Amino acid sequence: MTDVTVHDKIFTTFISAEKIQTRVAELGAAIDRDYLGKNPLLIGVLNGSVIFMADLLRNIKTPCEIGFIRVSSYQGTTSSGKVKNVIGLDDNIEGREVIIVEDIIDTGDTAVYLIEEIKKKNPASIRFATILLKPEALRQPVKCDYVGFEIPPAFVVGYGLDYDGFGRNLADIYQLKS
Ligand code: 5GP
Repeated sequence: MTDVTVHDKIFTTFISAEKIQTRVAELGAAIDRDYLGKNPLLIGVLNGSVIFMADLLRNIKTPCEIGFIRVSSYQGTTSSGKVKNVIGLDDNIEGREVIIVEDIIDTGDTAVYLIEEIKKKNPASIRFATILLKPEALRQPVKCDYVGFEIPPAFVVGYGLDYDGFGRNLADIYQLKS
């Protein structure tokens, strides 16, 4: 177990870089099997997915393309409160085999919202890939097709995931030390 300080908190090793690489290779192989003869479009959700996207991409042999989007949250002026917005979603995904690439699914709200927004652009299919999933934190069902690891609902950093902007560059995944 190795501890690391990110910003002002202490985190401890949770999933090693070696384990992550093995699992990402398996996910790449599963995508190759599922998309034989097709050209999927991987859409990464910034910023958290960048490391997973880069590794996953290098483990996919089938010809594929990538793009990135960003989800912003802000306080709306209506009583609905938190409103989200997708930035960078192109119209040219019509008829494409889309795989959304995320860092983590927590409540599932972002995933459900993204799937709805991407559906509006009429892709041929939508699947979801995430390196981490917190099943106990899910507030609504999310069909996640490629999951790296299911984890308990504790806060994690590393492998693209941040704490207050820091920690994304850590090769291993760390859990907040209680
Ligand atoms: P959801 O909409 O599923 O609740 O949240 C998804 C987003 O919340 C992720 O893309 C990520 O930015 C953030 N998030 C949720 N859990 C964690 C966590 O344990 N660590 C970090 N760094 N971000 C998290």
